[in-house]
Amino acid sequence: MQNAFEMVLEDQPIYNKASLHVDVLPVLIHCDECNKDVEVHHHKFICSCGKPSRNIIQGEELLTSKVEFED
Ligand SMILES: [Zn+2]
Repeated sequence: MQNAFEMVLEDQPIYNKASLHVDVLPVLIHCDECNKDVEVHHHKFICSCGKPSRNIIQGEELLTSKVEFED
């Protein structure tokens, strides 16, 4: 996926900023325990309180795209 991005950037530098923005869009999950939104790091869907959560509120499209690429 990273290589695909770089190829696009070389051909069309005008999309550089937008592509980078999408690439760094953080995945957010909602923790019912803390009742707050938590940023996911290293694909670990665990709140800072230690409670796992699958309630993705942002970035789900990006994850779906990665799954489709692997298929
Ligand atoms: Zn929590």
